[in-house]
Parts: sequence; structure tokens; C-alpha cells
Amino acid sequence: MQVWSFASGSDGNCYVLESEGTSLLVECGRPYSQIKELLDSIGLQPDELSGIVLTHAHGDHSRSARFLSQTHRVPIYASRGTLGALNLEDLSLARPLDSGKVYPVGQVDVKPFAVPHDCREPLGFRFESGTGRAAIATDLGWVPSNVARQFKDVDLLVLEANYDPHLLHTGTYPYFLKQRVSGTYGHLSNAAAGEAIASCQDRPPAVVWLAHLSEHNNSPKHALQTVARILRRRGLGHVPIKTTHHRRSNLRWTSAVARERQLPMFA
Ligand SMILES: [Zn+2]
Ligand SMILES: [Zn+2]
Repeated sequence: MQVWSFASGSDGNCYVLESEGTSLLVECGRPYSQIKELLDSIGLQPDELSGIVLTHAHGDHSRSARFLSQTHRVPIYASRGTLGALNLEDLSLARPLDSGKVYPVGQVDVKPFAVPHDCREPLGFRFESGTGRAAIATDLGWVPSNVARQFKDVDLLVLEANYDPHLLHTGTYPYFLKQRVSGTYGHLSNAAAGEAIASCQDRPPAVVWLAHLSEHNNSPKHALQTVARILRRRGLGHVPIKTTHHRRSNLRWTSAVARERQLPMFA
């Protein structure tokens, strides 16, 4: 299994997850031309995608989904609430998902779980295949225990670390927006992300990417310091943490099993 972070933040989110020939575009929130270019950079054409997987309908996650899906006949996997908001003309491309069920897409089992966020039926995902396990959860106001459970034993966790409370409250956002971001249906603070990872205790994710960082109310330094401090205190200082970039493709991860398979036998 391999995962690329193409972009992550309120200006547009986009990841690719690939496993044994199954390629999923997870989020489609950047302009279509850029997504096409990014796919091209890893040797993929939009027609080759097995599916577009969306967490929710906010524009920074879904902007180009309808166009890409209809132009290239790629099905969209999302909750009914998200699919409804997209106004798909061709409903044969809609694949409605229910939280708690398992949906095999090619070689990958897609396992959606409900998260608290201010839109209709937002989801997070756990992806499992013969070569790896990854989970992604961004845009959630807090982490209920049934969500935190999804982070256990994954090889890669992509988790929102949206804001530093001090930067948010002393920053330039209007009061209502500060309330929205920090509310139970808003976004996750750095400390809340750290606590959620730490709650996995003896079954933590092997690698963590902190994602959807606010450009106004956070910085990679703030996110990394806060999360690392919490993990160290809880005996998880060994878990590697990186931060995604707002608009750049900056991270690629390959699971240990997939890496072994790529190595020549007698190198
Ligand atoms: Zn978002
Ligand atoms: Zn959102």
C-alpha cells in the first residue's frame, strides 16, 4: 500500500491511496487541472482510478469530484448526505456508504466511520488491503472513542491537527468563526490530535501525518511540538510524525510489506 499527500487544508484536500493495482483518489478538493497534473506525476491517469472517496461535501474536499467523476466515469464513494450535496447528474456513478460497514473496492476494503463535523453525514475512513492499513480523519470537532478505535494498529494515520488554541483565540478570525472552528462540530486542535493518537496506547499507528493544518491558526512547528510532547509523555515518543503541506505534494508513504515486495530478491 502507498499513500501520497497532494494537498491538505482549507484551500483543498487531495490524497491518493494505492494498493496492488487499486488506486483511490481520497478527497477531490483542488482544481481539476491540478489533480490531473498530480496524478500524472505519479504515473496515473484519471480513467485508471478505481474510485473517488470523499469524507464530506465541503468544497475544500469535494470541489472537482463531480466533474472528474462524470468526465472519466469514476465512481464516487461517500455518504448519502455527501452524495446528495454534490448533485450528481449520473447517479450510476454514486456509491453510497454507511458508517460501520465494509466496502471492497478492488484490492482495498474501505471502512467508513462517522465523525462529528458541521455538514451532512461526514465520514472518516480506514483502508485495509493485503499489504497495509491506513486511516484518515480530518474535519472533526472532537474524537469520540469509536473513532479513536479506528486508529489502532494502522500502518499510517492521517489525522487533522487544525489549530493551536492560543493562535486561534488571539488571531484575526471573527468571533463566530473562532467558535465554529473550536466547536464540537468544527476542527481538531493539535492537543486533541495528540490525545487521540495517545489513546491507542499499546497499539499506536506506526506512522502519523498531521493534516489539514490551518494557515492562520497553526504552523507545522506548533503542531509537531504539541503532538510530540503528548506522545513522549505517554511513552509513544518513537512514533514518527510529519506534517502535510497545504498546496504541495510533499509526503509519500509505502507500507513495509509493499516495500519488501519492491526489493529485488538478491540485491
Ligand atoms: Zn476541510
Ligand atoms: Zn469540512
